[in-house]
Amino acid sequence: MANPWRTLIWRLALLFLGTALLGGLVGQVWLALVLAGWGALAWQLWQLYQLEHWLREDRESVPPQVEGVWSDLGARIARLRRQSRKRKRKFGRLLEQFQQATSALPDAAVVLDDGDQILWCNEPCQALLGLASPRDVGLPVTHLLRHPSFIEFLNQRHPGDSLEFPSPVNSEVLLNARVVPYGKKQWLLLATDMTRIRRLERMRRDFVANVSHELRTPLTVIVGYLETFLDSDHPSLESWRQPLRAMRQQAGRMLHIIEDLLMLTRLESQRERAPRRPVAVPALLANILEDAAALSGAQGHRIDVVADPDLWILGCEKELRSAFSNLVFNAVRYTPAGGRIEIHWFADAEGLHLSVRDNGEGIAPQHLPRLTERFYRIDRDRSRGSGGTGLGLSIVKHVLNNHGGQLQIASELGVGSVFTCDFPRESRTVAAPPARNASGFRRRPNDHS
Ligand code: ADP
Repeated sequence: MANPWRTLIWRLALLFLGTALLGGLVGQVWLALVLAGWGALAWQLWQLYQLEHWLREDRESVPPQVEGVWSDLGARIARLRRQSRKRKRKFGRLLEQFQQATSALPDAAVVLDDGDQILWCNEPCQALLGLASPRDVGLPVTHLLRHPSFIEFLNQRHPGDSLEFPSPVNSEVLLNARVVPYGKKQWLLLATDMTRIRRLERMRRDFVANVSHELRTPLTVIVGYLETFLDSDHPSLESWRQPLRAMRQQAGRMLHIIEDLLMLTRLESQRERAPRRPVAVPALLANILEDAAALSGAQGHRIDVVADPDLWILGCEKELRSAFSNLVFNAVRYTPAGGRIEIHWFADAEGLHLSVRDNGEGIAPQHLPRLTERFYRIDRDRSRGSGGTGLGLSIVKHVLNNHGGQLQIASELGVGSVFTCDFPRESRTVAAPPARNASGFRRRPNDHS
């Protein structure tokens, strides 16, 4: 195709040359050239007007019948327009598919802009969050979802965090919300209905609690009778002494498991509700030390406690006693006779810590991540033989969860283990003042001083 610019230049050159010749014949060269210039300009403007009109109207896909450079320009614009329409249709289809897919999801999905205003939301939002598109588009989500913990969660927006809160539509529906970065300066809020899962978990918890509860009484009676038989020196029981002892031991083990299961159920259901009071950990450890020495008995473990006497913690004494004694008793049970156990209670910049170190048999690395699972035991027979239930570390983990802390386990096979309970700094408290002397401090009813 000929270069349109060259054609234009040739045409203009011929026009001005012809006009100059004609003008020369009539003796008006300059006038003829000016007229030709105006004519050429008017022609170009006309072409430009047609093109601009076609672009403005945006109706026909075929460009107008313009000449030269303008025709070339028109063809290029028409091609770009066709491509852009094609792309628009493609993105439209993709958007439609995305919206259909997210609408088919059982979860609520809301796209938020940088200022937490709703840009789009899917169909399940209506039933779960009470949001609808396009009605609520453009409104700040915090004006519509006003639960305080949700607002706090959205403001903090820690990656990977999730929050459970009641649905604003039906307070019996429990939602789990997550916020993830989405596109450029946008966020995707996802809310999943957790009601069924939580109900199943509660059923499981109630079932275990009820079964444990129902079994406890008959077992206590059986243990009571077995103890009576064992205490009796009636000659007819003499040949039964050995099986009676075994029965007493096994029934005791079952009782122990039931107590631990009930404790775990209590810990799970009491989350955030356990009473928080100053707990004298040094005194608690002194107490546990006595029990540990009794458990060690003739095995002669050396057990040392190093505890900051003024370091108290805000928590639930019963739970903490259970967690700490589980760790110390484990150290005794899994450390050979004569071994060393060190208990250390201290605080540093990160928080409060209780570490229980032993130089016992240690744990192979592949077991470490699973140790706090219920009934996970490295050596079942060994654990049973030493009176274990397989629930001890699970209880420790739950107690620490309830106190905002966590359990760390470091161990080396054949060298020993260190179990450390880390508590947040905020749980530190000072020793409670001794009970006040009634006569010295009590205000009399008429004392107005
Ligand atoms: P168990 O009642 O069996 O002791 P736990 O939940 O308390 O149950 O512990 C789980 C397992 O972790 C134990 O069976 C034992 O194998 C291992 N374990 C716990 N504490 C120690 C320790 N101090 N040294 C070595 N192994 C340990």
